Amino acid sequence: MAALVLEYYVLLRSILRAKPHLRACLTRCRHCGIFFLTHPRNACRHDLRCPFGCREAHRQWASAQRSAAYYGDAEGKRIKSKLNERRPRKYRAPEPPSERPRPPARRRRGPRWNPLMVEYVRMVASLIEGRRISRGQVLRMLARKLRQHTLCRRRQIDQTVAWLHEEPP
Ligand SMILES: [Zn+2]
Repeated sequence: MAALVLEYYVLLRSILRAKPHLRACLTRCRHCGIFFLTHPRNACRHDLRCPFGCREAHRQWASAQRSAAYYGDAEGKRIKSKLNERRPRKYRAPEPPSERPRPPARRRRGPRWNPLMVEYVRMVASLIEGRRISRGQVLRMLARKLRQHTLCRRRQIDQTVAWLHEEPP
């Protein structure tokens, strides 16, 4: 993990060297302290949370807090029990298994990326390139990178295996 963060910082530094105008977009997560690029509309803000997990975690926490505050007091409890009463509780017999064979599950193409991260990568890539990058372009780029990475790893493993054959432990 530390190596990954180091790699990220090296990359971030080279981006800021090449595009000094993006320095205004550089900010630090108020929760974990990591540096990251934010949208120009948030330039110079120092109260933001990073897109690598802190922002989403805080959003979920705030939402849980709101809901607890709303249903927490006595009046809230009354409202909630009323809501529960209103919910229909009809008995439904289990459905017989359908005769038709199920359509084969569609195979997903490629890995599933975290949509929040994809959007962040899209925003930063657009900032760096100075033009609008689409979600599709980001997904294609990520797929390409992953393929290269897998290929690279495979080559490393092959080399290690070859080396072990030559010089068994
Ligand atoms: Zn953070």
